[in-house]
Amino acid sequence: MNRVSEEWTKARDELVISLLPDNIAAPMKANSRLRPLAVLFFRGVARGSHPVDLHQFCGWRSSRHVYKPVGEPEHFDIISSIDDLWTSNPWLWDSDRYRFDPEACAIAQEVMAFVGMDSMSSSIAEMENFKFRCLRCRGSRQAFMRLSVAVQHEVKYHSTPSVPVENKWSWVEGVEEDG
Ligand SMILES: [Zn+2]
Repeated sequence: MNRVSEEWTKARDELVISLLPDNIAAPMKANSRLRPLAVLFFRGVARGSHPVDLHQFCGWRSSRHVYKPVGEPEHFDIISSIDDLWTSNPWLWDSDRYRFDPEACAIAQEVMAFVGMDSMSSSIAEMENFKFRCLRCRGSRQAFMRLSVAVQHEVKYHSTPSVPVENKWSWVEGVEEDG
């Protein structure tokens, strides 16, 4: 990774880390390096915004700006040198309209603990193996969901924190998503 993209990645990491609560951010603040934890969720301040995980957050920020001129030509080379997860244009980032989403984070923590994963260390990629089915829904919503989709589903359709987690979800590991 060249020096310029390294500096921009660092700036991006610092911005995202600045959005996180201290208990989650402390290990990352120590070296200013963002880790793609599956438990991190963000939400825009606009009414009706839904929680997005870190990968979606970065991708969405990127796609939003994709047709805007990025200024100097060398920016295009830098974009291609930054690894996939971090495709966003760090120089266009603006945290003003985004917040860390503690509600979605708490849901993710509960679900990850349910399947025996450590929410303080497990990455988005590690959680891709797990699929969840909502036990509170019937019919067309009875599909297996990735963690981020399950969290969005919980926020959108359910507000039942007192329900034991084993009565909310069934789960499987290592199968193809069927919907
Ligand atoms: Zn449901």
